[in-house]
Amino acid sequence: MVKMIPFLDLRAAYEEIHDELESAVLDSLRSGWYIGGQDVEAFEEDFAAYTQTDVCIGVGNGLDALHLALLAMGIGAGDEVIVPSNTYIATWLAVSQCGGIPVPVEPGESTYTIDPGRIEAAITPRTRAILPVHLYGQPADLDPILTLARKHGLRVLEDAAQAHGARYKGRRIGGHGDAVAWSFYPGKNLGALGDAGAVTTNNPEIAGRIRVLRNYGSSVKYVNEVKGFNSRLDPVQAVALRVKLKYLDEWNARRASVAVRYARELAGTGLVLPRVPVWAEPVWHIYAVQHAKRDEIQKSLQAAGIGTLIHYPIPPHMQEAYRGEGYAAGWFPIAENMANRVLSLPMGPQLDDASVTAVIAALKVATQT
Ligand SMILES: *Cc1c(COP(=O)(O)O)cnc(C)c1O
Repeated sequence: MVKMIPFLDLRAAYEEIHDELESAVLDSLRSGWYIGGQDVEAFEEDFAAYTQTDVCIGVGNGLDALHLALLAMGIGAGDEVIVPSNTYIATWLAVSQCGGIPVPVEPGESTYTIDPGRIEAAITPRTRAILPVHLYGQPADLDPILTLARKHGLRVLEDAAQAHGARYKGRRIGGHGDAVAWSFYPGKNLGALGDAGAVTTNNPEIAGRIRVLRNYGSSVKYVNEVKGFNSRLDPVQAVALRVKLKYLDEWNARRASVAVRYARELAGTGLVLPRVPVWAEPVWHIYAVQHAKRDEIQKSLQAAGIGTLIHYPIPPHMQEAYRGEGYAAGWFPIAENMANRVLSLPMGPQLDDASVTAVIAALKVATQT
């Protein structure tokens, strides 16, 4: 019986810390307190400290974190927001939900993050913000982005849904831009037991607005200042996240050692490996490789019992959801080419050495044919 190697093993992650997780969740259930309160505040404090920022505001999920942060920055109807052409669609949807217009800019071909050298050409009098994504856990090149934003009077919101713990030039992602949006979807490096998200910021006005927006537009019960939303981080998720935050650095370090083996042992196979700039400390949410024969390679791995995924098979501008905005195939060739070539290898803190060896061996066979 061949051992299957899943793309990501959430069950194994749970098993590793189940005693601590279960007792924290049981305490929360028994407390009789199910919305807001001190457990949510305790996690917000811990995560702000971890990300080296002043404030963390827990919300319902990562998409809401992006949406509420954009609203708090004043993004509204007709405002243009610069986004990567190769991100998960949530980045674009958040802009659309504000009535704004996502303006795509292509990524670097092997860093996968937005190419700062292409941003200025996309800026118009209607541009209000730049929304870089730290895709696959690798920080985007923030300094040139922040310089451009200052020069043109733009806000910077970072999508850090895949980058918990990553560092840019030695400092953790969390407080470089005006605000940073996080997802704690279960499969993320810091994952809850369901949907959860947060925004971190050093800007007290933005923080205050998000606090009001997440809670029906109200800071005093039954007094509503703005037309808000219901998007709160549940206490039961907060206590689980607090436990898991303690393991994040160790689990990210294990991901990094898998990445080291992939980089060393897959060199020379013809796979395009991710390039890590000197200033980047990625957290390897995803280890994506590229190859012209991606589909054949994926099938061959599947036959060997190895699970892989594609992040993402259709770029946002080619999605049905964005038909009607006038996009056509060929407009963003880097993103389109990537969508046809990327393959995400098994990656996770519980992926053992023998499994990594098996994945590498299978890839060597698959790339020879
Ligand atoms: C997961 C993810 C989101 C959305 O987070 P949810 O919690 O699923 O809403 C946004 N952007 C990126 C890049 C993501 O990977």
